[in-house]
Amino acid sequence: PEAITVQELAKRMGERGADLVKALFKMGTPVTITETIDQDTAELLIEEFGHRINRVSEADIDIDTSTDVDAEETLKPRPPVVTIMGHVDHGKTSLLDAIRGASVQSGEAGGITQHIGAYQVSLPDKSKVTFLDTPGHEAFSEMRARGANVTDIVILVVAADDGLRPQTIEAINHTKAAGVPMIVAINKVDKPEAKPQKVREELLQHEIIVEDMGGEVQDVEVSATKKTGLDKLLEAIELQAEILELKANPDRAAEGTVIEAKLDKGRGPLATVLVQRGTLRVGDVFVAGASSGKVRAMIDDKGRQVKEAGPSFPVEVLGLSAVPSAGDPFTVVENEARAREVADYRKGVLDKKRTTAAPVSIENMFSAHA
Ligand code: GDP
Ligand code: MG
Repeated sequence: PEAITVQELAKRMGERGADLVKALFKMGTPVTITETIDQDTAELLIEEFGHRINRVSEADIDIDTSTDVDAEETLKPRPPVVTIMGHVDHGKTSLLDAIRGASVQSGEAGGITQHIGAYQVSLPDKSKVTFLDTPGHEAFSEMRARGANVTDIVILVVAADDGLRPQTIEAINHTKAAGVPMIVAINKVDKPEAKPQKVREELLQHEIIVEDMGGEVQDVEVSATKKTGLDKLLEAIELQAEILELKANPDRAAEGTVIEAKLDKGRGPLATVLVQRGTLRVGDVFVAGASSGKVRAMIDDKGRQVKEAGPSFPVEVLGLSAVPSAGDPFTVVENEARAREVADYRKGVLDKKRTTAAPVSIENMFSAHA
């Protein structure tokens, strides 16, 4: 259903249509310039040409032709970003708390932990894992719908006493659609009525073949309340992360995504930002959605003030002019004049979209103008 003509895409990319046709042919999609291709193919093609899909705001997407891709030699390993999904009451919150609690007890935290929408834990080998503290497929699909692909790994929580339920299946579908690898956490195995094997069998019906059944999807039995299996779960994440070889360039202006934002009575607008590339520093000038500002202070998930945050690090940022929305892109720019310009542009686009047309989402962006 979502489609764009090769011609139109070429125009937007600032490339020659013939070059796109050639590249498509090589990708195994022989089409002519007037024919349409679907969104996935278009995205592949955009990447193929070294362009990025630039989301100026939720309602406006354009293709950045500056080929702003970090060179291979600038990339350094970064921690995986993990989202927990699953049916209501299957233990998502309990599991997040248990994992966080385990790392607090191991003496990592400097005392008070605070809720900033994401947190990090350290593994025995000193590597880190970032958990998005906003469980549920809604947050996940909403972010994705806004073009913010922040999750590297999904943990699908299934209660062993309840099995697969409607939201479990939705979570599976969202994860598949996003192309994000999954680890299954079979929770509540402490319960006498727990049937972990039944969960594995039910997963087969959705083409999820866990290792225990001879497949490749890691499955771990856990109990969030009894705190068992948590080490195994972290190991599974570590292994999956190794396979993914996650990397980012830390030595550039920071870019990331707003995970959470709110207005604090005392401190003004606050946003938790997940840095995705570059390093964010106190004093940096930025645009977050249609709001701009200068980083006054940054606070990590342990409540500590930090001076900088690199790729995959979540920090709460002080110094915004207004409250952005979750999923908004966060971009460091060279100066305040530029920040205002970009913010005003985004605001203008938003206002215009609001008065003239139905909102255009990333899901239908390719068909919107076709
Ligand atoms: P969520 O809706 O997925 O976030 O689920 P919660 O974390 O709120 O858990 C729902 C209920 O299940 C709560 O009453 C938890 O105490 C309980 N629960 C969660 N994990 C476990 C577990 O491993 N074992 C047992 N017996 N109960 C659990
Ligand atoms: Mg919950």
